[in-house]
Order: sequence, then C-alpha cells, then structure tokens
Amino acid sequence: MADHFTSVTIIERDQLPDAPGPRKGVPQSRQTHAILERGAQIIAGFFPGFWEEMLVEGSVPLDSGQDMAWFHHGAWKARLAGGPTTYGQSRTLLEFHVRRRLLKDCAHVRVLRGDVAGLLHDATNQQITGVRVNGEDGNVAPLEAELVVDASGRGTRAPRWLEELGYGRPPMAQVRIDVCYASRIVEPPPGARDWKAMMVYGKAPHEKRMGFIFPIEGGRWNLTVAGYHGDHPTADEEGFLEFARSVHHPDYFAAMQDARPISPIAMHKVPTDQRYYYERMARFPDGFITVGDAICSFNPLFGQGMTTASLGALTLSECLAERAPGQGKGLSRDFQKRTTRYNDAAWAQVTGEDFRFSETEGERPPMIKVLHWYTRQIMELCSVDASVQRRMLPVTHMQAGMEVILSPSMMVKALMWGVGLRGNRALVVSHPPPIRFQSPPNEVRVAGA
Ligand SMILES: Cc1cc2nc3c(=O)[nH]c(=O)nc-3n(C[C@H](O)[C@H](O)[C@H](O)COP(=O)(O)OP(=O)(O)OC[C@H]3O[C@@H](n4cnc5c(N)ncnc54)[C@H](O)[C@@H]3O)c2cc1C
Repeated sequence: MADHFTSVTIIERDQLPDAPGPRKGVPQSRQTHAILERGAQIIAGFFPGFWEEMLVEGSVPLDSGQDMAWFHHGAWKARLAGGPTTYGQSRTLLEFHVRRRLLKDCAHVRVLRGDVAGLLHDATNQQITGVRVNGEDGNVAPLEAELVVDASGRGTRAPRWLEELGYGRPPMAQVRIDVCYASRIVEPPPGARDWKAMMVYGKAPHEKRMGFIFPIEGGRWNLTVAGYHGDHPTADEEGFLEFARSVHHPDYFAAMQDARPISPIAMHKVPTDQRYYYERMARFPDGFITVGDAICSFNPLFGQGMTTASLGALTLSECLAERAPGQGKGLSRDFQKRTTRYNDAAWAQVTGEDFRFSETEGERPPMIKVLHWYTRQIMELCSVDASVQRRMLPVTHMQAGMEVILSPSMMVKALMWGVGLRGNRALVVSHPPPIRFQSPPNEVRVAGA
C-alpha cells in the first residue's frame, strides 16, 4: 500500500514494542514460525537487503533440502543440496524487522494505536469509506480512507461488519482438528550434528504427535511439540519431555532431551482450519479487502500462514499497480478472487493432511481417499528418490503447485511405486547415500528392497 498511496495508517490495538518481543494480539508468536522460500522472497522484494540484515541479527540460513532432517509419512526425506533457501528466526524478530524496515523506508506510513470497531460507508452503501476506531482515550472516532484492509488475523470481525451493513456473511468452511502446540526456547546441547532443523511428523491415521526443532537467533532453538484431536502436550516440564519422548521417531527426543531450557513452555491451540469465501458473496463493497489469516487460517503444519499473508500483500500490490490512482472500482472483488489462487493450494494441502485422521470433522473433498493414496506414494518417494524430493520441495515452499504433483512423469512414478513395481532400479540408484538418520526398518520402504 505504501507504494500506491500518499498516506497509510496501520491501526493496531497492541502497544507495539520497540524491541522484538511477544504481545497480546499475536498469541501464536512464541511458537515456531518457519518462513517458506516464497514468503522470504516476497519480503525481500518489498524490502531489498532484508535477509542480509536478518543474518546480521542472527537469523540462520537454511538450505531446506540439505539442512532439514524431515521425517514424514514414516520415512526421512532424501537430503540434497540446493533446495529452497529459507531462514530460521523467532516470529517476534521477523515481525519486528518487517515493521522497522517499513517505518524506516516509508515516512508516509504511520501507526495509530486503537481498536477498529466497524466500517464507515457512503450514502449508497456500496463503498467503504473508512473505519470507526476505539482510541486509547476510550472515544470512538471515524477515520476516512480510500481503501480499508482488514489484516486483523483469525479473530477478524469483518464478517459481522459486512452483515451489519446488509451484505450478509461470507460463506465459511471449518475443519475441526483440535491441535495443540507447545513451544519453548532452549540452548542446544553441545555436539556436532549434520542438520540445522528437524521435523518429525506422526504417520496418520494413528500417530497424532509431532515434534520440531528449529534454529533461531542467538544460536538457540525453538522446540515445538504438538498433537491432533485432543492428544495434546502439557505445559509442565515432565509432561513436555514425556510428550517429546513419544514423538514418532526416537531421534527427536535424542536430539532435544539435553537442551537447556531458556523460556517457559508456551501453549497454543488451533481448534479448526478456518476460511472465509468473500469472493463468493453476491454483493461486496468497494474500498474494502481482507488479507492473511482474516481470510484463511489453518493448521500451521507446513508453515504456510506468513507466506499466504505475504502473497496477499503481493497480490494487492499487483491489483493496485494495474489501476490509475483513485480508480478503485472493482478492486475489492478482483483482489478477493485472486487470493483464491494461493489460498486454494495451501488449504487443500493442509486440510488434505488433516483429513487423514478419521476424527477430523468437516466437508471432505470428493475423491479424498484416492488423493490420500496418491499423495502418500509421492511422500514416500520423497524419501527414496531424491529427484522426486527435488521437485516437491518447491511445492512445499509455495513456489510450485499442482502442475508438479499431477505431471505425467510424477504420476508414472507414483503409480509404479504404489503398485509395488519398485524393482525400478533407477530409484535405487538415484537414492543419495547416506540417509543419515536411523529409521525403524519396518517403516521405510527402500526401493528394490
Ligand atoms: C501455533 C502456530 C504456529 C504457526 N507457525 C507458523 C509457521 O511456522 N510459519 C508461518 O508462516 N505461519 C505460522 N503460523 C501462522 C501465522 O502466525 C499467521 O498465519 C500469520 O501471523 C497471519 O498474519 P496476519 O497478519 O494475517 O495476522 P496476525 O499475525 O494474527 O496479526 C493480526 C494483528 O491484528 C491486530 N488486531 C486484531 N484485531 C484488531 C482490531 N480490531 N483493531 C486493531 N488491531 C487488531 C492484532 O493485535 C495483530 O497485531 C502459525 C500459527 C500458529 C497458531
């Protein structure tokens, strides 16, 4: 917005800290927050040199093909150099630096402390003309604007505001997953290791637990454990460690058990994946859009939330660049439609995994069993065939999509693997030695074995 308007006001109800730190309005900020390569690139596009600055602040560069030990669908993914590049840091450091760069680079952007209480509209009720703000002094004041962007996160009140203005509520999808995450910052134990991050996912439909080790600034780790459908970690020392011990590969506990805790254990529940379909509303006003979690907020299983929020910023920038200043008619609808391009993909990927559990409640997509079978073959191939993992990593990082998963060559490989024609020697030959992690022999299918 700063590139397209002469004045931008960010209305934030929290007192924003002048150093990296958690705050009430972002209760998830103590949990591990990985930024995908696509998100990292978008941020760098808006703020040139951003990641160089973050490296100075202590961010850890990650080659996600080589530096991440990833146990998924019962096997370690193949490790390979030259995967998507990303960076490890706390959510609070990342958020702080985005804000700092924005306010440093753009003198015409200001932050106003207040709680947005509703929308203003014109006499025809077809154009949003601003917001009502509950200020620090307790008074409600109008603030006029050409464009209002709701970036208020998962707890957005936009559906209610639109309903109050006579537009009705947007259709909504909810998928009940009942996940709880628990995280703490630790000092890593001494010793050499050939990975920088570790992710261990349980194998659905029976294994509901997962554990992550993620490097952050200051040479520290953020440790996260989580469980689906009420199989939750607890916030006490013993319970946290016991839960970590039960994560479905022993290497996880072995790696983290001797880490020295630095922070308390922070819990965060994600009861549902939640998505509003604003683009399907019969009527939608001009001058108003919603982005980020306010549209689509899901299980952070694959770390897509900040990247989809960044894609929202990029999409808005594109929509604005296509129009002359002051020519905002139709922009809102156009923007909301375009967000489906990336939200559809992230939503399908995450809810697809969530629906592997029989307890998951929500509208299951048609042919979900076929999809589950097919994607499982691909996930398994990512462990035994480095060329598949090389093609799938950009999908994980939102750089590529269904065209990879549904390409004829991928289909042939998946089908051959799935029906047991894995005497395909090419798979064995292309499998890069060594897989550096011990895996239970009955859980990994090795090509040709
Ligand atoms: C446990 C957990 C782990 C996660 N891990 C990852 C990860 O690894 N990678 C990743 O990319 N994403 C992750 N996410 C998702 C990520 O946190 C969100 O997708 C992202 O923060 C969404 O950004 P946003 O700007 O839309 O909303 P938020 O970051 O939630 O920000 C909303 C802001 O709006 C303010 N606000 C709200 N209402 C009002 C109001 N009425 N008036 C004024 N201000 C208001 C709030 O104070 C807050 O500052 C995770 C989420 C959870 C829950």
